[in-house]
Amino acid sequence: MIYPLVKEMAAVGAPVRVPVAVACRILGFSKQGYYNACWDPHAWNPTSDHPKGRACDIVFGSLGHFPKGTDKTNGDRLAEWLVTNADTWGVNYVIWQGRVWNSARANQGWRPYTGGGIYNPADATGGHFDHIHLSQH
Ligand SMILES: [Zn+2]
Repeated sequence: MIYPLVKEMAAVGAPVRVPVAVACRILGFSKQGYYNACWDPHAWNPTSDHPKGRACDIVFGSLGHFPKGTDKTNGDRLAEWLVTNADTWGVNYVIWQGRVWNSARANQGWRPYTGGGIYNPADATGGHFDHIHLSQH
């Protein structure tokens, strides 16, 4: 089974093209249902990259919960892979586990995520503990 995220990332014309085989390897492909949401109006944060079609959220475990075990490990692996391969795949910034990595500040590595005045960084969803936010150039 190919999950929507994997399919979408591999699609011709996708802003960030990750081959299915690569995505499956990164994620240690299993039957865990990770959810992805890319485009939406994001009315609560209209300057977000989501309504511009430049962002995806990848949920590990379930929304609203701090992921554990394999879910957490898979999120860590994907986040690190996105950072490591940022140039190749046009990664602008990644938010995961209360931290943000920005390509424009790559030399600073992962920095604490403040929530930008919109999200509560201590919250599972607000702090991006339950999902990776991926923005693309
Ligand atoms: Zn997002």
